[in-house]
Amino acid sequence: MNPGPGRFIMDYLSKTFWTEDEIKFREEVRSFCDKEITPIADKLDKGPYPRDLIRKIGKAGYMGVHHEKAAGGSARGLSYEIIVAEEISRCNGGLDMARMASATLYGMPVGKFGTPEQKKKYLTPIIRGDKVGAIGITEPDVGSDTAGMKTHAVQDGDDWFVTGEKRFITNGSQADYICCFAITDPNVDPRNGMTAFIVDTKTSGFSVVKDHDLLGMKSSRVSWLKLDSVRIPPDMVLGSPGQGFKILMDELDSERTAIAGEAIGYARIPYETAVKYANERQQFGKRIREFEGVSFKIADMAMKLEAGRALTLNAARMLDKGMKATKQASIAKLYTTEAAVQITNDALQILGGSGYTTDYPVERFLRDARLMTIGGGTAEILRFLIQREVFKEFEL
Ligand SMILES: Cc1cc2nc3c(=O)[nH]c(=O)nc-3n(C[C@H](O)[C@H](O)[C@H](O)COP(=O)(O)OP(=O)(O)OC[C@H]3O[C@@H](n4cnc5c(N)ncnc54)[C@H](O)[C@@H]3O)c2cc1C
Repeated sequence: MNPGPGRFIMDYLSKTFWTEDEIKFREEVRSFCDKEITPIADKLDKGPYPRDLIRKIGKAGYMGVHHEKAAGGSARGLSYEIIVAEEISRCNGGLDMARMASATLYGMPVGKFGTPEQKKKYLTPIIRGDKVGAIGITEPDVGSDTAGMKTHAVQDGDDWFVTGEKRFITNGSQADYICCFAITDPNVDPRNGMTAFIVDTKTSGFSVVKDHDLLGMKSSRVSWLKLDSVRIPPDMVLGSPGQGFKILMDELDSERTAIAGEAIGYARIPYETAVKYANERQQFGKRIREFEGVSFKIADMAMKLEAGRALTLNAARMLDKGMKATKQASIAKLYTTEAAVQITNDALQILGGSGYTTDYPVERFLRDARLMTIGGGTAEILRFLIQREVFKEFEL
């Protein structure tokens, strides 16, 4: 069952939080989603998303709200990217994961650290939706401990040659370009010996081992990739050699904020469905909303949605102002992703046996939401980062 039109009962469009322009923009994105995504939201779950849909999203301007005008973006900022993320995820989580892997996970490192020539060649076509990007950090033996990565590159003349494996790469088998991280100086701390490269997936030595079979996010493709001495010309090095870890850390703050926007999106339809169902379903001669076991779950859902949105917007606003927001982005992602799992799970519980069927659009969002306490930094790693920032603030 697909989510239905994008008007939302609980609209949260409080003017205390959002500007007039952001509110107008959200309406615009919703209309686009109602027309282009909602009617095929269930079908998309059979995957993969049609490439043409990314093109349409690009043409509508929703790949580049946070990219500079010179590169083809609209330079509005991350506060607009979280609106796009939420509204598209509200229809289909996997589709937005694919969009965001291209627009933000790949797009932000290229947009912030690329030269004007690199942006023109490797970012503008992504913003238009004509090309697809991905980010390659995770490896078979390296997940949370990114500094321990084994993928390495050696220089021969002006060119670099990258060898290694990257696993769980969103868009991996679909991508034209991958922002790929590799160790280039094994003799120093990896934080100073890592470099970011733009890899053209048509280059010889690049191959797809397989697409992973996933619990959710079925409309996306997440792949295991192999790089066997893939040649990288000097104009595809991002930033300077040795700057890779800095680029990676910078990327993660915007990625985590944008994922928090997606997490709110996964929770909205299950929440709405549960509210309506609790109002209609009768047991023991009463509507089930009259039982506290049900109605208090609704209260908790509403609270988590409101709080999550405020935390996410706060992190986006800080990053848009150029402020350091590692703690706020981590808090927003941790809170909203755990909330999305709880809300989708509670909604399924309120629907009883019906929630476990595909007749209602709850199970899909629960499957999609489950990923996000893992991808982009696990909940455990985020708690580690948050406490580390807290102790720094106390100078302890
Ligand atoms: C569908 C999907 C899409 C993805 N997309 C991408 C992508 O586009 N690009 C990319 O590079 N990666 C991607 N990833 C990878 C994702 O970011 C990693 O899965 C994640 O960072 C965790 O790494 P891991 O799976 O190797 O788990 P591990 O790091 O091996 O962790 C296993 C468990 O140990 C815990 N743990 C590890 N270290 C600590 C610690 N210090 N303290 C406490 N607990 C700890 C973790 O929290 C986790 O519970 C994707 C993953 C999935 C499943």
